[in-house]
Amino acid sequence: MPELPEVETIRLGLQNLVNKKVSHIFRSDKKMRIESTENLDKIANSTITEISRRARYLIVNFSNDYSLIIHLGMSGRITVNKKFQQLKHDHFACELNDNLWLIFNDPRRFGFVDLVLNKNISKHKMLSKLGFEPLSEEFNAAYLTQVLKNKKMNIKTTMMDNEIVVGVGNIYINESLFDSKISPMRQANSLTKTEIKNLVSSIKKTIAKAIELGGSSINDYVNSEGNLGNFQNSFKVYGQESEKCLLCKNLIRKIRQNGRSSFYCEKCQK
Ligand SMILES: [Zn+2]
Repeated sequence: MPELPEVETIRLGLQNLVNKKVSHIFRSDKKMRIESTENLDKIANSTITEISRRARYLIVNFSNDYSLIIHLGMSGRITVNKKFQQLKHDHFACELNDNLWLIFNDPRRFGFVDLVLNKNISKHKMLSKLGFEPLSEEFNAAYLTQVLKNKKMNIKTTMMDNEIVVGVGNIYINESLFDSKISPMRQANSLTKTEIKNLVSSIKKTIAKAIELGGSSINDYVNSEGNLGNFQNSFKVYGQESEKCLLCKNLIRKIRQNGRSSFYCEKCQK
C-alpha cells in the first residue's frame, strides 16, 4: 500500500500539471470504495491550480473551487500519459492541455476519486480526524509527550494511529524505532523525555529520507512516471529478520504486534 513518502513522491512528480486546463473526463462504470460526492464532469474546462497532499491523500485543486481527493488504496496508480488507452482497470482520467492525460488505474478498487467543494475538504470523512503531518512543526516532542501520557498500548502500534500523526506506516515506524533505539514493545507512556525527543526526530528523519529516495518499492507501487523508489535499499530492520544488526551484529528479530510485523534488535533497542 503506498504510504506517505510514496504519495509525496507522486505529488512532486505531478507538479508540471499545475496551470493545465481540463478538457475531457473519463469515468469507468465500476464502483470504487466511495462514490464521488460531486459529478466529476464539473471539472471540465477548469484549470488545475495546485496539487497538494494530506496524509496519503492527493488533493488536486481546480480554478472553479472544486478539489479532487485521490486515494490510491492498495493497488492504485496515477500516471501521466500522452495517450489514453482506456485499459481494463482505468477508472478515472482527464485530458489536459498539451495532449496529456492524468490517469487513475486501480485493479483492486480500494482507492477512490472524490470531487468535493474545496471549502468542504477539512470536513471530508476521510480527512477530518487526521493527526498532524510528521514533517510539520506541530508534530514535536511537547505534543507527543502530551499524547503518550495516558497510552498503555505498545509504542509501535500507538505511533501508527493516524489520529496522532499521519503517515507513519509499518515500514517507517520500524525504521524510526531502530533509529531512536527504542523497543517496539515498550509501553507508550513509559518513554522518557529524551526518548520522545529522539523518536520524533527519528520519524522526521526517516520520512524525509524516504521522500528523498522516492519512497519504498514494495508491492505495486510506482511513481507518476512508472518508476520505482529506492528507500527499500536503506531498510535497517524492516524485512531484515535473521540478518545482522548494522550496529551490534546481533540478529534482527521479527515479532507480531496487532497483526503487523515488527522488526528490531534486542540489544540496541531497549
Ligand atoms: Zn543491534
